[in-house]
Amino acid sequence: MTSRRIAVALAGCLALGAFAGSASAQPRELYQQTAHKGREIGNLTQNVYWARMDDYLSVFMVTSEGIILVEPIGTEFATWLKGEMAQRFKVPVKYVIYSHHHWDHGSGAAVYADTARLVGHANMLPHLAMPPASTPLPQNVRAQDVNGNGQIERSEAQGNIKAQFDLYDADRNDALSGAEVTRGPLVYVRAPNDVYTERRDITLGGKRVEVIPIPTPHADDNTIVRFVDGTNVLFASDWITVRRLPFGGDVALKEEIARVRTVEAMDYEHFVCSHGMLGTKADVTSNLRYREELRDAVSRAIAAGQTLEQAQASVLMEAYKGWEFYDQQRPGNVAGTYRALTSNR
Ligand SMILES: [Zn+2]
Repeated sequence: MTSRRIAVALAGCLALGAFAGSASAQPRELYQQTAHKGREIGNLTQNVYWARMDDYLSVFMVTSEGIILVEPIGTEFATWLKGEMAQRFKVPVKYVIYSHHHWDHGSGAAVYADTARLVGHANMLPHLAMPPASTPLPQNVRAQDVNGNGQIERSEAQGNIKAQFDLYDADRNDALSGAEVTRGPLVYVRAPNDVYTERRDITLGGKRVEVIPIPTPHADDNTIVRFVDGTNVLFASDWITVRRLPFGGDVALKEEIARVRTVEAMDYEHFVCSHGMLGTKADVTSNLRYREELRDAVSRAIAAGQTLEQAQASVLMEAYKGWEFYDQQRPGNVAGTYRALTSNR
């Protein structure tokens, strides 16, 4: 549990971009960088809009009584978006729905807290809680504690810890305790004040939004959101990607494929992942097909007696060469699937 949590905290949702120092709360450079650039708002369908910060996407629905937003992304982005929404729509944000607690999706909701309820899965709360003060520095960062005092001072920090120092330093004392490092870079993730564990509806201005928890290996507080009442939009963060290879080694596990199939079976037309390009339901079908074909191809490689390395060399998934992150994710997707299938997981 702890080691998984640390791995996730250090990695964020995906690899971090190069850090450039800045006085802002969450400099854009800290976020995953891809070919998708810019900060903009677009209309998806009827009263549902998307908003982009570089690779990151959020979705919001405008009603006569206010706005329902999914994914605050970060303090600077939320500040910008709040201003844009006030100017364009003249109604306040009434709900901010978290997809999961990771810093690069969940930071910045405090910007909306004057008018909005912050809606999140109850499993967010233990992630955001500070571990006991006695928690030691995790093994993988202990070498950074050069003076051996059990903390990482700002001058000692390196790599991601240095880049994200302010996102870890909850008590602002310029030193990271074992508890702060173990919790992760979550300083700007405000705890939800409206929590759920079961599927629920939010109705505003006569429009309905379904909040649907689907815990995944990526996040046990993972939630998808379906905008209904004629708008037909589904939002899912991180785990179902649009024309982009999914992240990690768990992508073709039986349970994971079953979860994606559940989402594919739902009723919607537009699909928005928190990253990359806008999609449709057909993109979710393609994502599911990738996982199934990956599972089948790796199964055949195992049946042919191939080692993990041989399978990584032979399972090329060439139909998906045009997808984003093909080069970066394919070897890990194959390896995770190979290990799962050979250990009967
Ligand atoms: Zn994530």
